[in-house]
Amino acid sequence: MKILAAVARGRSEPLGFESLNLAEPAHDEILVKLVASGVCHTDLRAIEVEGMVPKPIVLGHEGAGIVEAVGSAITKVKPGDAVLLTFDSCGSCPSCSARAPSYCQHLLARNFSGKKPSGSIPYTDASGAPVFGNFFGQSSFATHALCRSRNVVKVAAGAPLDLLAPLGCGIQTGAGAVMRSLKVGDGQSIAVFGTGSVGLSAIMAARIVGADPIIAIDVHPARLAAARDLGATHTIDASCEDVAARLREITGHGVKFAIETSGLARSVKTAVESLAPLGTCGVIAATREPEVGIVTRQLMVGGRSIRGIAEGDSIPDEFIPELVEHYARGRLPLERLVTHFPFEHINEAIHDAHGGAVIKPILRMGNR
Ligand SMILES: [Zn+2]
Ligand SMILES: [Zn+2]
Repeated sequence: MKILAAVARGRSEPLGFESLNLAEPAHDEILVKLVASGVCHTDLRAIEVEGMVPKPIVLGHEGAGIVEAVGSAITKVKPGDAVLLTFDSCGSCPSCSARAPSYCQHLLARNFSGKKPSGSIPYTDASGAPVFGNFFGQSSFATHALCRSRNVVKVAAGAPLDLLAPLGCGIQTGAGAVMRSLKVGDGQSIAVFGTGSVGLSAIMAARIVGADPIIAIDVHPARLAAARDLGATHTIDASCEDVAARLREITGHGVKFAIETSGLARSVKTAVESLAPLGTCGVIAATREPEVGIVTRQLMVGGRSIRGIAEGDSIPDEFIPELVEHYARGRLPLERLVTHFPFEHINEAIHDAHGGAVIKPILRMGNR
């Protein structure tokens, strides 16, 4: 079948709209007609960073849409069902068997290789040349996506797909870090470094679990105001305040939990240094710098920990419905993070996400 997709061919060129050929769903595949897709920083990184994914490729990994067709082995969903798309995992490796699919041993092959698990390349272009896809098991910067059972989550008919789309990555990453990975509890202190969509999701989740204080750190006053609006009890402007000193002033002995979402080495260092004894720093963003300057003594003294977190340790079939419920009850006000763009304005959405003019762009695919 023919689909319309935004294709990344080079590092700096804008994405270009192309008509691609996509095979009908195989026995274990689900064809989804996309209604919306969030734009996540991992999409931006995949465009920029040479070698992160093969090109040309269709990116996008916060898709939401309606099931259009299913392969013969699919029982989880049927045509007409509303679904959110999320990361893919194999379902049978030691991590998946231990209910930790975001640490699937085949995560890179299933989400970043540009190919299907079978090894085939999903699309051909107008000239018949192959185009990579299957990004996070979906490639949602398109009118249609081929997914598998493990990376679609059914939601109620009529659910606001153009708001819920980023639950599949950015929102579950931030919220899951708090609720699943670190299991932050009532009355426990947390500092969130970086208040983009992931950091703000962590702050909303921290409020849901009753964390206190909830301290947001960023350099943009508007983001800090949003953080306060969404649940932060304190904010620190790192462009003009001494973060470590302010954190000590607020907490006395340091924070029980820190979450680092900015990807800046100095921020990781400050986050670890700000921990109270037995505190844990969750690292969500990869730093560009190879060294972050943490010495083991800082961890050993006081029994501090640092741990990497992918996709908030989410088991999507369980956690995404829980987040939908929080949204429905007004506890996860996603609408405050979101700016909508028509699909054809995808390059503008990417530009605005880069520059920080918008927190979470969501593309609406319209009726194609
Ligand atoms: Zn696995
Ligand atoms: Zn993402």
